Amino acid sequence: MGTTDEKKWMTEEDGIIKVRSCAWSAPGDHPTGCGVIMSVKDGKIIKVEGDPEHPISQGRLCPRCLAFDEVQYHPDRLLHPMKRDPKDRGTDKWERITWDEAYDLIETEVRRVWEQHGPECCFVITGTGRETTLWANVYATNVLGSPNRTGVISGASCYGPRCTMANYHLGAGYPELDYAAFFPDRYDDPRYEVPKYIVIWGKDPIYSNSDGLFGHAVVDLMQRGSKLIVIDPRLTWLAAHAEYHLQLRPGTDAALGMGLANVIIQEDLYDHEFVDEWCYGFKAFAECVSEWTPERVEEVTWVPADVLREAARAFATNGPSSAMWGLAFDMQENGVQAGHLFLGIVAICGYLDVPGGLTLAAPASFMGKWRYDAVVSLPPETRDKLIKPLDGRYSVYTTGGAMPGALGDTMIDWLEMENPPFPLKLGWIVGSNLLACSAAQPERWLKNLQQVEFFIANEIFMTPTVMALADLVLPVSTWAEHIGIVMPHFGRNTHFLGAMNQAVDPGDTKSDFQIMLDMGKRLRPDIWPWEDEEAFLDEQLHTEYDWDFKDLQQDVVRQQPFEYYKFRTGKLRADKDPGFDTPTGLVELKSSIYPMFGEEALPFFKEPYYSPYSDRISDEVKAEYPLVLTTGGRNILYFHSEHRNVPSLRSLHPDPLVTIHPETAAKHGISDGDWVAIENPEGRCVQRASLSYEADPRIIHCEHGWWFPEQTSEAPNLYGPFKANPNNLIPHEIIGSTGYGANYKSVIAKIYKVDGLDS
Ligand code: SF4
Repeated sequence: MGTTDEKKWMTEEDGIIKVRSCAWSAPGDHPTGCGVIMSVKDGKIIKVEGDPEHPISQGRLCPRCLAFDEVQYHPDRLLHPMKRDPKDRGTDKWERITWDEAYDLIETEVRRVWEQHGPECCFVITGTGRETTLWANVYATNVLGSPNRTGVISGASCYGPRCTMANYHLGAGYPELDYAAFFPDRYDDPRYEVPKYIVIWGKDPIYSNSDGLFGHAVVDLMQRGSKLIVIDPRLTWLAAHAEYHLQLRPGTDAALGMGLANVIIQEDLYDHEFVDEWCYGFKAFAECVSEWTPERVEEVTWVPADVLREAARAFATNGPSSAMWGLAFDMQENGVQAGHLFLGIVAICGYLDVPGGLTLAAPASFMGKWRYDAVVSLPPETRDKLIKPLDGRYSVYTTGGAMPGALGDTMIDWLEMENPPFPLKLGWIVGSNLLACSAAQPERWLKNLQQVEFFIANEIFMTPTVMALADLVLPVSTWAEHIGIVMPHFGRNTHFLGAMNQAVDPGDTKSDFQIMLDMGKRLRPDIWPWEDEEAFLDEQLHTEYDWDFKDLQQDVVRQQPFEYYKFRTGKLRADKDPGFDTPTGLVELKSSIYPMFGEEALPFFKEPYYSPYSDRISDEVKAEYPLVLTTGGRNILYFHSEHRNVPSLRSLHPDPLVTIHPETAAKHGISDGDWVAIENPEGRCVQRASLSYEADPRIIHCEHGWWFPEQTSEAPNLYGPFKANPNNLIPHEIIGSTGYGANYKSVIAKIYKVDGLDS
């Protein structure tokens, strides 16, 4: 850190230094990057508040960032590297070591595995969210020399499926609600138009602020006249304020999409000019949805036909309108088809790349080129050793997806093989608490990962996953302790770049990037020429811009240049021709890519595997588990499995909650606050009942990501990650044929009252 001289991002008054920054790393780690001002006294953060000068968040912060000082100075923070004998996994027999000793140990173990087994026997496990998502692949390729990385989550069902669909159908990065984020004067910019309607589908942005979307923008737009069409099984705050709430049965989004498209086409409400000039396969798409009348859709989705019809009309006839899609699309085996329909509907209504519609970004090389270079830095024979199914299935995910690496489902199969083509010997867990959060059937994951000889973990706190598996834990710094660059949507459709500015000394912790750089220099020095992170960031910035990190640091946020109608001016395609960057040059309503992988070119509806109407399970099973279980709705106090140890946040929401309709609860003799077991053929978990009219009486909702930092850390308890975990009820490898999408949000269950969390 330097002095405050001429640093606009750092000012000093009465002995208190104020540092402007963007929050984008563990914890509170979103791919959003809200503007924060940290007040620092005597080298310590004494207050965190919102930065009113941040053009997007404009001073607003949610409780996770407001409680950041509790994280920063939490007594349980990991502050030094520690190692443990692999035979002591699951016990608290940690020994503090120096960074040099930690790095020596990593180098020795990696070189041993390289020499004895090959680099492909090393792999990386990653989670979601922070900078780590950018770095995790590179840890695998550029440090370990291996193509093998996994996000663990079944069906890669987080963000990657939507990105892949956007690539295939639009030839573009993730399309986003246009909330004037590119313009300094935001909604007042003369180029901008307020959307008449916003469809919010399978997403709760007020709480999630997911990826590049700041949920409060929806409220801004509501105040400026936008009306909402919310598609969600639950009555969220946004649904309660919507003109239309399509309260669908979980997992039936593709059927609903068929119905919406059908009404828009049958009633001739679509944008003929856009369809004729810029869409491919309209006739086939129209035929495909033609039998999905609102009445048929009602039978499948439980959404009244009239509500669907009126919502479709309102959306299509009131342009510009916009739409956003959420994790519900990723988290179902039919999600690729539902996403196909979502993109098809917004395209035929003419809402792509127009003011107040959905933004699309021009191709950009910032970070993308480096990440691509990281993959191709491996020799082809090593790249070929990406773990994939031996029978060639899931080829869309394996060869054509937006997120490289091994599918979690395949990784489990590989670990369970008696004689795999090669064994997995060394793992590096970078930002994942998989046992509490992402892994379907987490105890099965734990059992299988135990066979890996050596595990490294980068973490900020001791978690169930680190306690269970790690032999070496490296303490990572918070976003207040290192520099970095925030990129909404990971560099594709990025409306701003934000500086993470260091406010306090990291002590004996290091950033994920610094660890990667240090170990990269030891293990693959030829591809790690940079002296430090700033030199690296400068080089990456210079692929797109004529300014460097210090310039960004001064301004804290730099919005990106933007223009509409790029499909007309050749700015969406790498070859600069007008159109979209797809094989046909058009929005592909009928995919020309899926058939290359043996997949259907047109969307279809597939009933979830575990559902009241499934023909893949017996009537006895359906009778025994009569409720539909959905999971993962967001809570503003927690981000996935984070924050359960933050006192002020936990005191507001101390227990995991299963939401049950009062009529359903009464049938089962359950009262508000009772402990309840939720069970299906795959497994069981226990949560506390919260009675609510928010969903249909046939639907219950379980929270995810729970573990209990106050409980015993040692095995077998491991802070209790399996007790309240709805992922116990999620089947292994019931995923889309593309490899994408698992039914995390749509299974069946029964409920019954129990005495407590441990019952
Ligand atoms: S969404 Fe909340 S936790 Fe995430 S960066 Fe913004 S204020 Fe922080």
